[in-house]
Amino acid sequence: MAGANREKSGDVVRDFTTRLRDEWRREVACQCQPTLPFPCICKGYIVQVDLMEKWIDENLDKLLADVEPKMTYRSWKFPIKSDILRGSEKRCVRVFGILLELGHGELIDLFKSAGILDNNLQFSIPSIMSRLQSGLEDNNIPDAEKIIDEFENAKWVFCPPRLELDMDENFVGNFIMPFCRRERINLKGGTASVFQAAIKQEFILDPNLKEALRKTLYHDDDHGMCYVLALKSFSEKSKDIYEWEKQAFVGLRGNQSVPIVKSLGCYSHYDGREMSYNLLLEYGQMDLDEYWADLGNIPPVRWEEIRRFWKSLFRVAEAIRGVHNLTFKRGETENHYDG
Ligand SMILES: [Zn+2]
Repeated sequence: MAGANREKSGDVVRDFTTRLRDEWRREVACQCQPTLPFPCICKGYIVQVDLMEKWIDENLDKLLADVEPKMTYRSWKFPIKSDILRGSEKRCVRVFGILLELGHGELIDLFKSAGILDNNLQFSIPSIMSRLQSGLEDNNIPDAEKIIDEFENAKWVFCPPRLELDMDENFVGNFIMPFCRRERINLKGGTASVFQAAIKQEFILDPNLKEALRKTLYHDDDHGMCYVLALKSFSEKSKDIYEWEKQAFVGLRGNQSVPIVKSLGCYSHYDGREMSYNLLLEYGQMDLDEYWADLGNIPPVRWEEIRRFWKSLFRVAEAIRGVHNLTFKRGETENHYDG
């Protein structure tokens, strides 16, 4: 970085914030439950953290050199080595990205030494948070509490959950699911809300889920290449039904011959206001009612068609009987679901 090529102080950080705003943001749909009286508080975007982290990794020395003059609290002046932010277990490249966005990149070593790392970012562990607060205060950082609040608030767009096939997760906090579309498709069922959800191709990294969603890939005019799935969302009062349905889908897992939509996984989410229980399902384009009502579906005429039609329909009926009446094993015990 010598001579004429030397970048002016602040240039790399400015480059980072510009890219964060213009290149790495991804729009996401409102996630509020339609039945709740709360106003929408969704941020409306998440950050494509893989791209962000790759860029930070490549520019880490320059970024640290940029924020170093602001590290006035440091009584000793060894330069911070970029490698201590990388590594796998104690990696805090993402943490650094959030601090840079907040204009506090210079606090990275205090956050790191308190134990705020990329892999525990979403948990806000009380002992770590109080260590952070005293770390900031001991080093006479003004507004320690305000900085921590801002960090806690800002971090959620940087940790969207990764979806995986057969996931079963409990999310606590203001997690933002990475759906760019989330449109309600049923107003019929009372116990659950069903949504058609789209997710950008770049957010599905699990090869098994990729394979399961392969056929749904389409080009979205606003969001580029996306997969489609259905999201069935239950509130706290329908939790039992959610558990039963979940078990029923687990019972059907791996049975390729059952011609009904399959479960891709599930998660619960408590955002501090409301609990929701969610099934991720293959997206079936229509239910049977809608299929029969669709004038585009020409009724079977020739006898082979009639035979094929009724044969398929009987397989659906068979599958429904399977969902409502099945046996599944959990460890040693065998349960029977008779719904
Ligand atoms: Zn919302």
